[in-house]
Amino acid sequence: MIQFDKLTYPTKGTRIEFKDGKIQVPDDPIIPFIRGDGIGLDITPAMELVVDSAVEKAYGGKKKIEWFEVHAGLSALQLYGNDNVLPEDTIKAIEHFYVAIKGPLTTPVGGFKFVCLDCAKEQDGPGGKRPEKCEKCGSKWVTPRFRSLNVGLRQKMDLYACVRPVRWFKGVPCPVKHPEKLDVIIFRENTEDVYAGIEFEQGTPEASKVINFLNTDMGKNIRKDSGVGIKPISITGTKRLVRKAIKHAIDHNLPSVTFDHKGNIQKFTEGAFRDWGYEVAKEEFRDQIITEQELWDEFDGKMPEGKVLIKDRIADQIFQQVLLRPDEYSVIATPNLNGDYISDACAAQVGGLGLAPGANIGDEVALFEATHGTAPKYTGMDKVNPSSLILSAVMMLEYMGWQEAADLIVRGIETTIGNKTVTYDLERQMEGATKIKCSEYAQKIVENMG
Ligand code: NAP
Repeated sequence: MIQFDKLTYPTKGTRIEFKDGKIQVPDDPIIPFIRGDGIGLDITPAMELVVDSAVEKAYGGKKKIEWFEVHAGLSALQLYGNDNVLPEDTIKAIEHFYVAIKGPLTTPVGGFKFVCLDCAKEQDGPGGKRPEKCEKCGSKWVTPRFRSLNVGLRQKMDLYACVRPVRWFKGVPCPVKHPEKLDVIIFRENTEDVYAGIEFEQGTPEASKVINFLNTDMGKNIRKDSGVGIKPISITGTKRLVRKAIKHAIDHNLPSVTFDHKGNIQKFTEGAFRDWGYEVAKEEFRDQIITEQELWDEFDGKMPEGKVLIKDRIADQIFQQVLLRPDEYSVIATPNLNGDYISDACAAQVGGLGLAPGANIGDEVALFEATHGTAPKYTGMDKVNPSSLILSAVMMLEYMGWQEAADLIVRGIETTIGNKTVTYDLERQMEGATKIKCSEYAQKIVENMG
């Protein structure tokens, strides 16, 4: 049994095992969870209530999740002190138990020195020193700025695929006429591209060194007053991501996988992503796939039975395509930056980010998460919409093979939204809707599971 610094190994439940490239889920799996900062306080209990009720209902008490709280962000700071917002215990626990779920975490963005983990206020501190309390909310949990915890979690556990399903729930207000036509799952590469964090600030000796090297040794002509970022995209990073996306399409009988890239301009990064994607498809899934080129050359555009269509689209064009011909897209595999944009664009198309779930998945470990932030102004008000985290839990149950429980939750959400009993964010856009609290909404989902 592994030893933790400040966590106690759960006394109930059984560890999920990993054998022959797959998780083996017992009837009483231990699932670590990070409550999250801000509204994590409200949405995490709502998610647990819904999941526990669905599992109980689906399996008549034969299966049960044993939740195991682990810490990041504010709760980590409170327990571990020393500005430790991402303790080693947390990484150890998630890696040990293989499947986990998390609420949102504060990520400081500006050039400030300190951040309050209670209200996310970023501040410089008096004379550059750490403030004793937050200048906005008075909280004592002000800590030096840190890099994104979400990025930290992904990098430490090499969770290389960010997976975001986007579909419409009947009744949710949205800007398009036929939101039901969009039903996609986006596999976004999570570790490379301009997100690799290789950047040199304008005016620094490092930036000058890089610019001089590129201008002198590589024959480029970069302005001396530039900041510089590096965009690495590798065969390894691309192929493992595309492999996961194609496997998902095959396992779930989905019609197509589209590579979303900007290869017409960035030939050796985005263009290479596309080429390596086709390589994986042809080398590893030859019997199960057909490329768009082959479809027209050999089948006159008529899709043969039982094959997954592999195609690619330029990044700017796909924004038009998901709006104008949404039903032509199913699985989308994409480098990091394009994935960031297309995920949010698709989510907005079907009624906003409040309902969009997500997961970060590696070869062995999967971490499911709400896709919105900590919305600190609503902390503890029992007000916000917990659907994103609940739908992330649905993805988690599906990943565990507990499809029956997942289906019950989806049915509960569909009915609850269909009945127009919703949280403030949806209520303000729906005619004749009744506004209910976060916890009441969770309770309604349970009642509406059928
Ligand atoms: P945010 O927390 O997502 O909130 C922006 C607005 O979105 C809220 O004010 C609210 O809109 C709406 N919203 C978000 N979640 C909602 C929910 N569950 N139900 C209903 N409405 C919801 O974005 P932010 O204010 O830019 O970021 C706050 C902090 O969260 C930052 O530190 C940021 O870095 C962090 N963040 C974390 C994650 C993550 O952990 N994955 C993701 C994004 C941001 P109204 O005001 O209109 O009601």
